[in-house]
Amino acid sequence: CGQCITHCPTGALRARDDTERVFDALEDQEKICLVQIAPAVRTSWGESLGLTHEQATVERLASALRAMGFDYVFDTNFSADLTIMEEGSELLERIKKASEPGGEDIKFPMFTSCCPGWIRYVKSHYPELLDQVSTSKSPQQMFGAVAKTYYAHALGVDPSKIFSVSIMPCVAKKAEAALPTMVGETGDPDVDVVLTVREVDRMIRASHIDASALPEQELDQPLGVGTGAAVIFGATGGVMDAALRSAYFLATGENPDPDAFSGVRGLDGWKEKTFDLAGTPLRVAVAHGLGNARKLIEALRAGEVSYDFVEIMACPGGCVGGGGQPIHDGCELAGERGDVLWGLDAQAPIRFSHENPSVKLVYDDFFGNPLSERAEELLHTDHTAWSMPK
Ligand code: SF4
Repeated sequence: CGQCITHCPTGALRARDDTERVFDALEDQEKICLVQIAPAVRTSWGESLGLTHEQATVERLASALRAMGFDYVFDTNFSADLTIMEEGSELLERIKKASEPGGEDIKFPMFTSCCPGWIRYVKSHYPELLDQVSTSKSPQQMFGAVAKTYYAHALGVDPSKIFSVSIMPCVAKKAEAALPTMVGETGDPDVDVVLTVREVDRMIRASHIDASALPEQELDQPLGVGTGAAVIFGATGGVMDAALRSAYFLATGENPDPDAFSGVRGLDGWKEKTFDLAGTPLRVAVAHGLGNARKLIEALRAGEVSYDFVEIMACPGGCVGGGGQPIHDGCELAGERGDVLWGLDAQAPIRFSHENPSVKLVYDDFFGNPLSERAEELLHTDHTAWSMPK
């Protein structure tokens, strides 16, 4: 009947091919083409090109994208760190307000908002929970908003000249980028085209690029800088782990051990932990896969559990298991790809979002502080301002 195709929250059943639009933009001399690479893409882009994990680095993908004609190659890790600053501040603000007179109306848990598959699911099945979902945009959309405001200004160009592409492990991100709320002042989308990993691999092959023969190249600055806390966004528990690291810092002024919140990692479908945050117990939960999300919400509604902060990712394993990733019949690689991300975090020179020098720069130069008026305008959204397709 087509209902499942219309309503699939992750969008995996109705993938659209956008490669021609990107090829056209790359040929257009008037356009400045920039691209962001999502955290989970670095675990998988080489799989269908015959590259080993060691060969398929994000730096070699940057090289392939420049060979295709992109002017700037950036990292969604930058805006994942920005998301943590906004979402972590939002959580602390919510906790503070709840403890003040009149704060009893503030409801918990607060839910993460970076997964558009989850947003579509909660809107269609539990709309009464929408005001508990963080208003922070996803890293993809924060990046798009920064690219067409701060970065356009830094380049001295009109934002309409920028063609902003994202490479995602996700099909639902295509629908997210097309939402009426994800546009700039002139009504242009903040992200012009979302490519899945399968699409970018097709583009590399169609461009006759032998990625294995390319050198590794650094990403562009300043929006190509991300931390270990950002790269784990692609694995279940990663957003929670990263958010807790910075929330701890924002609450205490000191960094925790970066592995202090490792209890939220791993592939259990529904994990829960309580951590001490500056003397306040913080009850958190993490669920991946919408079946687990439903069980968790039903338990919340029945009063069987209660939490302060909940991370939900629609795909099993998180974005490493996303609907835009390469498909290997009969083989599930989400766990293996997630291990790659946790390994990158462990080796990262910076493991806290609040220490990302580019994030600090963008706050100093442009946003001021998390939750500032400009940050609210560009980095936050209203989940009630659009309707699910009938
Ligand atoms: Fe997209 Fe990741 Fe959510 Fe899956 S878990 S729908 S890949 S954002």
